[in-house]
Amino acid sequence: MEAIGVLMMCPMNSYLEQELDKRFKLFRYWTQPKQREFLAQQAESIRAIVGNSNSGADADIIDSLPKLEIVSSFSVGLDRIDLLKCKEKGIRVTNTPDVLTEDVADLAIGLMLAVLRRICECDKYVRSGAWKLGDFKLTTKFSGKRVGIIGLGRIGLAIAERAEAFDCPINYYSRSKKANTNYTYYGSVVELASNSDILVVACALTPETTHIVNREVMDALGPKGVLINVGRGPHVDEAELVSALVEGRLGGAGLDVFEKEPEVPEQLFGLENVVLLPHVGSGTVETRKVMADLVLGNLEAHFSSKPLLTPVV
Ligand code: NAP
Repeated sequence: MEAIGVLMMCPMNSYLEQELDKRFKLFRYWTQPKQREFLAQQAESIRAIVGNSNSGADADIIDSLPKLEIVSSFSVGLDRIDLLKCKEKGIRVTNTPDVLTEDVADLAIGLMLAVLRRICECDKYVRSGAWKLGDFKLTTKFSGKRVGIIGLGRIGLAIAERAEAFDCPINYYSRSKKANTNYTYYGSVVELASNSDILVVACALTPETTHIVNREVMDALGPKGVLINVGRGPHVDEAELVSALVEGRLGGAGLDVFEKEPEVPEQLFGLENVVLLPHVGSGTVETRKVMADLVLGNLEAHFSSKPLLTPVV
């Protein structure tokens, strides 16, 4: 397979990069100073793209690679891939479902605890020596809070199961009511937010779910409500989120993702009711290794004419 051209879109995992380099003819897109010219030169040799949640395969790049056969994403989210175009052109698409679910759900619970119990502020309090001057103020209880989940998929469900262990009643919104759960379904995000103390975004990013958390939803969640986003930045209207937090119309937020990563609105930096993470939902050594093996396994299956491990298209 050493002769097969694979285009890696951006740095994502050193083990994956090394293994791709060993097994295929690897091109590193981000190192190309003239990307248009590079694509034109390699148009006949690139047969696979490896992307992630930052950079995938848009219509332009797909159109400029006539020999492209497969897009293998180092992510479960498919929002950076033009799936319609891939379908039209018969290009296969794979992602990394299931293997990252636990990590993302763990982190969502961590964010809920961190925001309500002010864990990051408490840590600063100890390190700065402020504790010697007096005790930290009281915070907010997490156990028993009503957790509302947007998108009861793999990650949403894993968050629900974890939150249940904290005696949290679970509410959810998705496009349809699920038959196999007793969690309370709401037919709109505003209704979900009105009936939840903590609102968690865990759905896929699509044109329909862009800004699914808007001003109306934030107002419904209210000044004691907390927003947790472990989905994608564009799920939340970030400008509205900043105003809601600054004006005290929303109680707090725990955010792993942002609209224009790695840019984060600086107005959030001074707010103690906000916990900010650099998109690390699946970022553990263990999970990233399994994700990388899945990307490699899908590419090898494809080029050996075997069934794909995690096919999307
Ligand atoms: P999944 O199993 O496919 O679940 C996606 C959910 O989105 C489904 O429950 C689906 O519910 C819901 N959904 C889709 N369109 C919707 C709409 N218009 N309105 C409401 N809900 C909608 O995917 P997953 O494995 O749980 O992953 C979910 C997302 O998490 C990924 O797409 C990715 O963006 C994000 N993620 C983030 C990180 C991170 O590092 N922070 C890591 C991994 C994944 P219905 O079909 O019932 O509507």
